[in-house]
Amino acid sequence: MIDQLYRKAVLTVSGQKQIESLVRSRGWSVAQRFVAGESAQTAIAAVGELAADGILSNLDLLGEFVASPEKANEFAGQVLHLLDAARAEGIKPYVSVKLSSIGQGQTVDGQDLGLTNARRIIGKAKEYGGFVCLDMEDHPRVDQTLEQFRVLVGEFGAQHVGTVLQSYLYRAEADRASLDDLRPNLRIVKGAYLEPESVAMPVKADVDANYRKLVYAHLKAGNYVNVATHDETIIADVQHFVLAHGISKDAFEFQMLYGIRRDLQKELAAQGYRVRAYIPYGRDWYAYFSRRIAERPANVMFVLRGMLKG
Ligand SMILES: Cc1cc2nc3c(=O)[nH]c(=O)nc-3n(C[C@H](O)[C@H](O)[C@H](O)COP(=O)(O)OP(=O)(O)OC[C@H]3O[C@@H](n4cnc5c(N)ncnc54)[C@H](O)[C@@H]3O)c2cc1C
Repeated sequence: MIDQLYRKAVLTVSGQKQIESLVRSRGWSVAQRFVAGESAQTAIAAVGELAADGILSNLDLLGEFVASPEKANEFAGQVLHLLDAARAEGIKPYVSVKLSSIGQGQTVDGQDLGLTNARRIIGKAKEYGGFVCLDMEDHPRVDQTLEQFRVLVGEFGAQHVGTVLQSYLYRAEADRASLDDLRPNLRIVKGAYLEPESVAMPVKADVDANYRKLVYAHLKAGNYVNVATHDETIIADVQHFVLAHGISKDAFEFQMLYGIRRDLQKELAAQGYRVRAYIPYGRDWYAYFSRRIAERPANVMFVLRGMLKG
């Protein structure tokens, strides 16, 4: 409950314009702990560093809730550029995209622009032998994201597009089961947004229990699972579960965020698990950064100290 109150307080305060402009102007040096620079080149350099430790990458150009079709198309163009830049470096591109950043909810020529741009991005990723994960955002977007995911898997195949389920949502298990026929590649996360109790579990222990349930159910169904968490207890439980059920290490991977628990990422990779780091980059880092601060009380002190140092 305290975790929930803390998270709510940080996300509410960070939503205030004065706080945003203060952190934007003084917080970049601190944000760099979680964000791999501002350009595709700096993010691609991070891919190389992680690869040296046996860690795979998932590139994410930061940005969300784009208000105009022009901005959405511009953003999609930058993601296409990222795919080209990765390929030029000999990297099979694995990227994450928020549909709200490429026009979801805006209709152009009778089509949802998010879907149109997702087709452009996944089409190119597929051509390059890559993969696109549709990040999950706040709860009003879940229905449309899952509907669009279904359409995109039909067009490009589950080996080129995946999506995310959040264990804090009451609906998550029903959503997981409803997607089973697609044999989907799903990333399971706890959930990072400020959500009302009517849709999201307020007690952390329930979110954690539901997390395990979702991972185990998806593995048992024979589908590929991205176990995206830094929670060591859950990671250990998943290791026991796969051993007990004779599930191979190729049937899932662990995923963590850039700048968080690199030690654990390296350790798991050294043990022969597939491990992938989510590498965010770009100028629009504020919302992503606020969610990372909201996840851990110690991070607020880290930010304040960093900003005071200047
Ligand atoms: C690869 C990946 C992709 C994600 N994609 C999405 C998405 O599409 N949609 C979405 O809603 N959420 C997403 N998330 C965020 C997720 O929902 C959680 O908010 C986040 O992962 C923290 O939860 P946790 O599972 O690590 O567990 P927690 O119980 O929150 O944390 C467990 C432990 O991890 C460490 N830790 C966790 N967070 C931090 C932090 N910020 N700084 C330092 N240490 C930390 C601490 O040691 C903590 O005790 C993603 C997370 C990952 C790893």
